[in-house]
Amino acid sequence: MTTDFYHLLISDCALAAVLLGLFFYVSRVSRGVRGITAWGVAHFVYSLGAALLDGTAQVLSQSGNPELARMVAGLGGLLACAGLIGLAWSVIQFVHQRALGPGERALMPLALALPLGGWLLSGGGNVQDAQGAAMSAVEVFALAVVIWQLRLLRAGPNHLPARLMMTACVALLYLYARDLAHALTGRYGPNPSWVNADLSIWFLLNFCMLMLASFRAAEALRQSALLDPLTGALNHRGLASELRASTRFVTLEGGLAVVALDLDHFKAVNDHHGHETGDQVLQRFSDVVRGCIRSNDLFVRLGGEEFMLVLRETSPEVAHRLAERIRTQVMSLEFPASTFRVTVSLGIAHTRYRHTGFNDLVRLADEALYAAKRNGRNRVELRMHPAPVL
Ligand code: GH3
Ligand code: MG
Ligand code: MG
Repeated sequence: MTTDFYHLLISDCALAAVLLGLFFYVSRVSRGVRGITAWGVAHFVYSLGAALLDGTAQVLSQSGNPELARMVAGLGGLLACAGLIGLAWSVIQFVHQRALGPGERALMPLALALPLGGWLLSGGGNVQDAQGAAMSAVEVFALAVVIWQLRLLRAGPNHLPARLMMTACVALLYLYARDLAHALTGRYGPNPSWVNADLSIWFLLNFCMLMLASFRAAEALRQSALLDPLTGALNHRGLASELRASTRFVTLEGGLAVVALDLDHFKAVNDHHGHETGDQVLQRFSDVVRGCIRSNDLFVRLGGEEFMLVLRETSPEVAHRLAERIRTQVMSLEFPASTFRVTVSLGIAHTRYRHTGFNDLVRLADEALYAAKRNGRNRVELRMHPAPVL
């Protein structure tokens, strides 16, 4: 252990603290990006734990203070392992943008059992070997999880930083697998010739993580411009963007259906129960629709209580069944504070012909919707394009 090496570890902790502030700042300015603060916190905790274990504990033991060294190594091992699992957690959250599952949460106590067990069992033996083995084992595991998750970031600008991070993690895996082998044979000790590479690679990982976070924030912003904030349905811009991106309209193997939906007597809901209840109705209605459609169907809010569905590769029978399912589910919606019911009218336009213009289909769906309104509301009308010759 040289003083230079110890200083290196201290400055690494200081850098981790600055990065933590930076990650926190990024998560504040780009709300809705999950996992980024967790990465900053976990990286800081890991750096601190590793510095205590590889630096402070060694200095203390060399200066004839074995009991304190034992305590510090134990604490360092625990912090490092907690930080590593935190890093794996943050990458899972970041890649999937979701909360952790119970199996993923269980990784923390499992990983902490290693340094804790090592500390208790090492007794009078070399605690640094035990803690080094625990930390290296969790490092190898956590990096494997990170690599496994990052492989999913293939799309768009994420591709390059994600691949770079995967390569960097493979290099770290090699270093830590060596450390693990050394610890298991009673020769644990940070290798000063590798430590610069180790710290540089972590710097690269942090840098790439910041890049990924900014890409994710930009994408979230782009997405939110395409969605209606009240219902989460696509807005006009979102529909136009989806239609531009879609090449499947031209194939039309199973046919294409456009469904116009309009809540019945919605003005009366607002008038009798208030605008807030009206908003709640729109949200519950949208949840029903989303629960009925497939992932590649388009759900659009055209304005007010008027919506549209674009169903690709869909026969008229399937479109009609789907419209009926929406109609009956909307009819049975209950609202806790009131006793009223809402109903919806639906007009379907269907075509099997690739030359049918999309706007013609929308116009036909509107005609079908008006027919549904005229014929008593709370019903489905279907029109074929072109109209069948009788
Ligand atoms: P119809 O059965 O013929 O469709 O009658 P309707 O009352 O549903 O249709 P109308 O077009 O007369 O009224 C639509 C109402 O929707 C009027 C407007 O106050 C209300 N509305 C539009 N946008 C919103 C919104 O974002 N929130 C709420 N709460 N109401 C809205
Ligand atoms: Mg209406
Ligand atoms: Mg209307």
